[in-house]
Parts: sequence; structure tokens; C-alpha cells
Amino acid sequence: MTKVLIELKQISKRYDQPKQANVSIMEDININIKEGELVSILGPSGSGKSTLLRIIAGLVPPSQGTVLYNGREIAGTNPGVGMVFQSFALFPWLTVLENVKLGLENKPLREADKMRKALSVIDMIGLDGFEGAYPKELSGGMRQRVGIGRALVMEPDILLMDEPFSALDVLTAENLKRDLLELWTEKQIPTKCIIMVTHSIEEAVYMSDRAIVLSRDPARVISDIPIPMAHWRDKQDPQFTSLVDQIYSILTQREVKPAGPAEEKQNTIEKIPPVPAGALTGFIELIDDLGQQVDLYKLADQLSLKLEDFLPIVEAVEMLQFATVLHGDIELTEPGRQFANASVLFRKEIFKDQVLEHVPIMEKIIWILQSKSNNKMEGAFFVEIFEKHFEAEEAALQLDILIDWGRYAELIAYDKKAKVLYLENDSD
Ligand code: ADP
Ligand code: MG
Repeated sequence: MTKVLIELKQISKRYDQPKQANVSIMEDININIKEGELVSILGPSGSGKSTLLRIIAGLVPPSQGTVLYNGREIAGTNPGVGMVFQSFALFPWLTVLENVKLGLENKPLREADKMRKALSVIDMIGLDGFEGAYPKELSGGMRQRVGIGRALVMEPDILLMDEPFSALDVLTAENLKRDLLELWTEKQIPTKCIIMVTHSIEEAVYMSDRAIVLSRDPARVISDIPIPMAHWRDKQDPQFTSLVDQIYSILTQREVKPAGPAEEKQNTIEKIPPVPAGALTGFIELIDDLGQQVDLYKLADQLSLKLEDFLPIVEAVEMLQFATVLHGDIELTEPGRQFANASVLFRKEIFKDQVLEHVPIMEKIIWILQSKSNNKMEGAFFVEIFEKHFEAEEAALQLDILIDWGRYAELIAYDKKAKVLYLENDSD
């Protein structure tokens, strides 16, 4: 019988946003993590992965629900947790040794014992000889080793890592993943479980025993996939690639939102993936070049795009119905195929049709511009509307994308200096 180490029960989280109080970003999360497990958490950008880790660490309280550690509800910071961040978070004025020792700051240990533990961890993470170096003298990979060392020196039961490899170049990241996995699988560290947020499906399948996939707005667990493969895993193994495919197809499924009351639906604006029209054009051409159905996983690989940058493009072509995604394959629709093979002018026509049909907010913008006698409106007016639905930064971004799409479709024009939108046919 393996022991449950961490139990999340019906966790919800709400945050106040600038124009809207109590926005629900996470709902009814139930997860058990057992001793001996390495679990990955995947999900779109902004879905709440970092928040979930902070809730487990006790750094952020859930709005509802409980976190149990060893069967007991945590109050305040979780004593069993060591945490590793994407941005290393080292103190530049402290040496490697001092940065690692910082992990022991609150432990009732004698200085000599702290020193001994810190030195042994530094050795373990491969930084022997760099004890006296300062962070600025280290490469990114070495800095992240210090970040990991600082978490490991506490000998935590639970190691939480928030995209620990994503700031590193590919080879450095591979190297560090292997070293960490070796420490873990060979039980050189007393850590009982690892929970890792990642945006790389391949990384999740390579390293973890389970991949938990979250949805966005709000975050819910949409899938919890066991990865029953022994280490070391071969990325070419059919079982490996089929697991990657499976997770890809889950992440790229269009969210099926429960149909709410009618008035609620009317008041929502669908978020547009932040992808400029130019990028969509290139992407549609590429799918067309590659033939009938294209494996999304291979496509992302070919484009060397991170999942966080790739998913929005897929989402956007789906939203505009230039392509459909099924079982991890993407296929152009009829308009998509026409678009790929059309002249520049005709492309704009097709794009216009798709935008007007599938992005209702664009139609409203046009309607507002038409209703004004000078056919002009300040961007700030629209941003203010969007801010009722999104955070300030997101609201501005949404308008930027709509302007980009609208200009490409020659539906609207934009005076960048005056920050004014106007109708294209009014421009000359
Ligand atoms: P992820 O790590 O998956 O990218 P986050 O957990 O950082 O997502 O954020 C999830 C959502 O919660 C986002 O919409 C973010 O804007 C919001 N959020 C996170 N922290 C705060 C905060 N302190 N106050 C208000 N909103 C927040
Ligand atoms: Mg995050």
C-alpha cells in the first residue's frame, strides 16, 4: 500500500481582478499524490498551474477546499515542501554555498551541520568547486542547479518545480533533467514525491509517472494520464510517441464550456488567441504543404515551438475554422485549403469572411464604428469594454490582436499615433 502524501480536496481559487471581483480561476480540483510519484502538471498559459503549486506549498490559501499533507490539513506554509522556480531566484550578492545554505535558514541546526549539508548537496548537483562563485559567474544551467540545490538541502518530502527547465537552452535542459531523474530514480535524495509544472509534453512523458492536464478559465483537471514506462525512456519508442500524441490531443481539444444561462452567455467575450494574422497565414500554408492530416506533435517539433507558443496558433486557426483538430491531427477545412492556395487579395476576402462569421466581437466593433458619424473610435473605448471581461493587460492585448486581424482583413484601419480605429473604406 503506497501512502498518499498530498491530498487536494475540492480546491477552488478566486482572485479579484481590476474591474471584476472574485473571478474564479480554479474550480473543484481533487488530486492525490502518493509517495514515490513524479507528477507533471500541464495546461495552457494562465490556467493556474503556478497558483496550484503555491496552494500546495501553502504560500497562497485556497478560496475553498483543503490541502492535506500526511493526512493533516496544512495551516500556513507546508513544512514538507521545497520549491524550485523557473527564474532561479538566486541572491546575486551571495555565493553558491550561501545561496544553497539559505534553504536551511529556518532549520534548528548548528552552523557546522548546515555547512556540511550544503556542501554535500552542492557536490550532488554537480557544482563541486563552485562553492565560492557568485551567480553572475555561472551559466543558466548552473544557476538552476543552485536553485535545485537550495530546495534539496532542506531534504523536503515534496519537491515542487515550476517550469524548472524552460529558461534553459535545449542541451542544458536535457542534461539537468537526466541528472535530476538519476538522483530521484536511484533514491540519492530523500524526497518522497516531485510535482513539476511544465509546458513540454515530451518532458512530462520523459520524466513523470503521471501527467495531469488542466483546463483554463477556470482550471479543472481534464485528464490524469498514467505513464507506465520504465526509466530510461526512449523518445522514439512507439509507446512514448503515442502518449505524447494522446496528451497533445487533450490539450488541443476546443474547450466545451457548459451552456450557462442565456444572459450570461451574451455577456461574455470569447478570448482570442494572441496570434497575429501573419503567423496564421504561414501556419496554414505549412499545413497545406504537409498534406492531408498532420500530426500536431510532429508539427510543433518541426517548427521548434514551445507548447505555450504553439497552442495559441492551433487555437486561432480552429477558432476561425481554417482547420479542425481530431485525435492529435490537424486538417485544413475547405476555407483553410482555399486560403492556402489563394492570391493575397483573395486571402484577405476569405479571412474577412471567417473573422466576421466566427469572431462576434469583430462584428460589434465594425458596427460601433459604422454607427459613429466620423466612423472613428478611440482604442481606449474598446479597451474599457474588454476590461470588464479581462485583466487590464489582457484587455489591451485583445484589442491589439483584433486590430491586427481587422487590418489584415481590411475591415478596419488604425492610427497608431492617435490610437484611433476607423473604418477602412473611410481612410482615403
Ligand atoms: P499559469 O502558471 O498556468 O500560467 P497562473 O497560476 O500564474 O497560471 O495564473 C492563473 C490565473 O490567475 C491567471 O489568469 C492570472 O492572471 C491569475 N492570477 C494569478 N495570481 C494572481 C494574483 N495574485 N492576483 C490576481 N490574479 C492572479
Ligand atoms: Mg506559471
